Amino acid sequence: MTVLQSFRARTGEPLGAPLVASTPQQIDAAVQAAAEAFEGWQSSDGATRGALLRALAQALEGDREALVALADDETALGTVRLNGELDRTAFQLRRFADIAERGVPFAWLDDPAVPGAPPAGHPAMARVQVPLGPVAMFSASNFPFAFSVPGGDTASALAAGCSLVIKAHAGHPLTSQRVHGLMQQVLQALRLPAGLIGMVQGGGNEVGTQLIRHPLIAAGAFTGSTRGGAALQAEANARPRPIPFYGELGSINPVVALPGILAAKGAELAATLAGSISLGCGQFCTSPGVIVVLDDPASDTFVAALSTALAGQNPHAMLTTGMRRAFEAGAKALVAAGARPLVNDLSDGPAPRPFLAQVDAATFIERAALHDEVFGPAALVVRATSVAQAVQVLQAVGGSLTVTLWGVEHDSAEARSLVRGATAIAGRVLFAGVPTGVAVTAAQQHGGPWPSSTQPMTTSVGDAALNRFLRPVALQDAPVWLTARQGQPC
Ligand code: NAP
Repeated sequence: MTVLQSFRARTGEPLGAPLVASTPQQIDAAVQAAAEAFEGWQSSDGATRGALLRALAQALEGDREALVALADDETALGTVRLNGELDRTAFQLRRFADIAERGVPFAWLDDPAVPGAPPAGHPAMARVQVPLGPVAMFSASNFPFAFSVPGGDTASALAAGCSLVIKAHAGHPLTSQRVHGLMQQVLQALRLPAGLIGMVQGGGNEVGTQLIRHPLIAAGAFTGSTRGGAALQAEANARPRPIPFYGELGSINPVVALPGILAAKGAELAATLAGSISLGCGQFCTSPGVIVVLDDPASDTFVAALSTALAGQNPHAMLTTGMRRAFEAGAKALVAAGARPLVNDLSDGPAPRPFLAQVDAATFIERAALHDEVFGPAALVVRATSVAQAVQVLQAVGGSLTVTLWGVEHDSAEARSLVRGATAIAGRVLFAGVPTGVAVTAAQQHGGPWPSSTQPMTTSVGDAALNRFLRPVALQDAPVWLTARQGQPC
């Protein structure tokens, strides 16, 4: 029997009684139940899916006070942030309710028969979409609601017609259990099968590995570290029947700041950037980790202002003691790889101090160890000699959820080369503001080339997240009763 313990993030003390990790038999039973629930759910109509998603949003909001207090104890993220996250989670659930009610999962392409010989002539075709099946969903540590049990993966998979078995994150097991209990009450009230939203828990890899290996699992959805995501992707590919694995992984989110804009409003940008680096103790996949500046007096002033502003930040405790240790080790690894510290009062306290270091672009490009994400309030200033070298820095990063470009307001060959360099490696390119904060909307793209995600053509945030759980099928010369369903699976 493997024991799982919740901890108070601020003190490291145990919270509540030990829990028991899911056994292999329980994991198998959860997947079997999800497969049975999928049988009916795959052909449900938009109104039924919408009703479930809206009821889940209402249930979360109805238990807000207790949920936020518990999540705050387990994560130290603070009640203001957690209330905002709960709002966002309810918004996401209702947005996917709306998407299902509007019939988006049932979109189909009618391609009537054309008489005559091929290739011009062809039979009657209809291109429809079918849900994949039971999804193994891996909750994130750093978003106990929005990217966890009731989060965007859950909302989009249910809207697509899939069932789920959720692997709760060991960093907030009690919050996960409470949310899952509420979701089970909603399923019961709507007379839907309990297995539609299953949950398993555990730490130390075994539970997640068994889940992704289960033959009845049809896809994986994951938010977490590049290392964890890579391991689970390898498991998904090593199965006798490999399955799609949608991993949203680590990212260093470069910000390129050109001298012109730094001369105009460098002080303001330095304050904004320092806030973004330390927001949520830097525990965001979109936290800016690399700041590229050109050799210029305006850059020098900006870096000095950024150092001062960052040194004045007071990040809260990290999610887990393991992450706290990893942060310190990550900052030290940057220094060992040649970065020169600018803000470096690393301490042993429960909350980390911010870290900022600097390196020249040639060294950054050459040393892969400088490209690693340091999860927490840390960033690396990279000094380039030209825009062309700044583009090479982006190329060395290779893949990122975001790139931010400050100072390309006017069309020029250099502006275009930066935009090309940024779009080549990122899912989202910002021309103002900071990358922390990911809008849940139609045009959102949260996923970029490796190592920021496993499937850069897909997004885990925004309306298009639905598409990950649908597969196209062409129906040829289908009977009238089937085409009359107009894309709704039978
Ligand atoms: P994680 O280690 O990737 O874990 C996320 C989930 O994946 C957990 O449920 C974990 O289960 C599972 N998992 C991880 N590796 C696995 C493996 N080899 N086989 C099977 N299941 C596996 O992410 P995290 O817990 O958020 O962060 C851990 C470390 O990653 C931190 O120290 C942090 O520095 C770093 N990191 C996190 C993020 C992020 O966005 N969350 C980004 C960058 C870096 P178990 O608990 O059972 O292992």
